[in-house]
Amino acid sequence: MRILIAEDEKPLADALTEILKQNRYHVDAVYHGNHGLEYARSGIYDLILLDIMLPGMDGLSILKTLRKEHITTPVIILTAKSEVSDIIAGLDAGSDDYLAKPFSTGELLARIRALSRRSAAYNEEVLSCGNLSFNKSTMELCCDSDSLKLGLKESQLMELLLNNAGRIMPKDLIIEKIWGLDSDVEYNNIEVYISFLRQKMAFLGTSTQIRTVRGVGYQLEAMEEKD
Ligand code: CA
Repeated sequence: MRILIAEDEKPLADALTEILKQNRYHVDAVYHGNHGLEYARSGIYDLILLDIMLPGMDGLSILKTLRKEHITTPVIILTAKSEVSDIIAGLDAGSDDYLAKPFSTGELLARIRALSRRSAAYNEEVLSCGNLSFNKSTMELCCDSDSLKLGLKESQLMELLLNNAGRIMPKDLIIEKIWGLDSDVEYNNIEVYISFLRQKMAFLGTSTQIRTVRGVGYQLEAMEEKD
């Protein structure tokens, strides 16, 4: 597991590097925001520890830029400011967790382990909900012995719904995740893709359904099979 540390307090960055190396992680540390973005963009890291106050580009701007570029590497925000507003801003910008300085080594290591477990689940090849499954590498949607290949956007949408099965996914969030923040995609574009997916799911005969949550978005649900 390769970890990037972007932290301008050099003694802290070096101490973290040392601790993580002792725990058999590969670590790179950078002390400037611009380098943080540059390294993070490489996409080679499994986790980024990101300080908020950095010279050059600040942590939140780095995070927003990465998420906008669809770089989904898990990020733990390190913040000296433990105020709720900073934590909310960090989570809103797409961080997965945060640690308020000063934090204990034990807590940091526990958070890293928790996030890596989560991202391992996230990276599973086959996602499923009820009797519906989807293979991310072949883009095949399956139910029992039947399968169908999905188009690219359908695949991305299905993957998003499966990763969030049971949760309501607002339309704005779907647009942001699949088409990006700057896209001019409208709600009816999503509706079209949802209807394609529903047709394919009906064809496969799955009992899993995409439920419309009026005025909000969609929710993937494994329904009880009727006898
Ligand atoms: Ca700092």
